[in-house]
Amino acid sequence: MNYEKPKGTYDLLPGTTEKWQFIEETARLIFRDYQYQEMRTPIFEHYEVIARSVGDTTDIVSKEMYDFYDKKNRHVTLRPEGTAPVVRAFVENKLFGPEYAKPYKTYYVGPMFRYEQPQAGRQRQFHQIGVEAFGSDNPAVDVESMAMAMDFFKQLGISEIKLVINSLGDKESRAAYRQALIDYLEPKAEELSEDSKRRLHENPLRVLDSKDRKDKAIVADAPSILDYLNEPSKAHFDAVMQMLDELEIPYVIDQNMVRGLDYYTHTIFEIMSEAKKMGSQSTICAGGRYDGLVEELGGPETPGFGFAMGIERILLTLEAEEIIIPEINEIDAYVVGIGADTNLASLKLVQAIRNFGFSADRDFMNRKPKAQFKTAAKLNAKLVLTIGESELLEGIVNVKNMASREEKAFKLTDIYERFSEVYDEMTTIMFD
Ligand code: ATP
Ligand code: MG
Repeated sequence: MNYEKPKGTYDLLPGTTEKWQFIEETARLIFRDYQYQEMRTPIFEHYEVIARSVGDTTDIVSKEMYDFYDKKNRHVTLRPEGTAPVVRAFVENKLFGPEYAKPYKTYYVGPMFRYEQPQAGRQRQFHQIGVEAFGSDNPAVDVESMAMAMDFFKQLGISEIKLVINSLGDKESRAAYRQALIDYLEPKAEELSEDSKRRLHENPLRVLDSKDRKDKAIVADAPSILDYLNEPSKAHFDAVMQMLDELEIPYVIDQNMVRGLDYYTHTIFEIMSEAKKMGSQSTICAGGRYDGLVEELGGPETPGFGFAMGIERILLTLEAEEIIIPEINEIDAYVVGIGADTNLASLKLVQAIRNFGFSADRDFMNRKPKAQFKTAAKLNAKLVLTIGESELLEGIVNVKNMASREEKAFKLTDIYERFSEVYDEMTTIMFD
């Protein structure tokens, strides 16, 4: 019997989840500024949705899918990425209709699943924050998207990053490049890895994405896709670069970058951490344009642009840059109950305080007053309400401002009926 978590997964415990919430909340705020709205799709999809979009010959589909047959023999898979499901939902819900604003901008946050060799920054269940914009082929959408990602990292305090871009051009440019690449790779076929040998004719662009060391050396001298862009593709890429320059967003071009998914066209990009302490999994954000994908899944001709960021890798980047995430760990009031008879009164007090919209906690373990005060201090409680058996008989409670040490007795009914006022009175500075 194995009662341990599956390989490549993690339990995210309190202490860590606060950091996740901070990252997610920062993303939500930025996305709102850019007018992206959240979408939530199922964790599993029909296998075909993913295979068709991401591509049969990619590592993701050919090796990394958590796919299975359900009880009615439907071939389904845990989602390995977010774009294909969102595109599927975009088509299925007819979000291309005239009643929706264009471009249709949406984001998602959630777990993705890939059967990979686990290591730092690479899990089998990992989490992505991703965005998609449907319906515009304007290069300004590409640039706005990349700017949004850069903004997000800046907001988190991350600065040691670089933006890497390339273009895969349109279908025609890719076909021309495909042939040039085959011509270059064929004479060297024997030296390629088994995977790359197979892909050489199936999907030669995949060879450029190989992680094999020998393959990497061979593709280093491969022809550049940028030399095969036709006029419209070149114009698009030139416009993207010009707009990045205008916005003073620094970038580098990597002519060999192709990305691990087949659906990309035109602009593709990655954002990498350059922090010294960052391990080898340094790509924290990746995406690009996917102008044929909506049609591929049965929708009308609709251009698209999106990216995804790995939350685990963002956390590693924050650690590598030694950025401290602000800890929000304080409560408005802590109730110290002295003696067993105050159990019910303590319960009523915290409930009353919470009902007024404040945060409150109390002791449940019958601990000594000193230990309770220690907890209140650890929780950074603004006020401590103390009630002992004699106070209970008199119907009063002692309220103390922990910062100013100011104390005052209130009637229990004051707390039950007008705690907001008590809170204001006790937290307005009463000393010089
Ligand atoms: P890599 O080359 O690192 O395998 P990828 O090209 O497969 O990345 P994408 O599919 O573009 O990555 O996913 C976007 C982002 O999601 C990555 O840049 C990374 O931050 C994160 N990511 C992808 N796979 C994993 C994983 N197995 N574990 C953790 N994060 C991941
Ligand atoms: Mg991968």
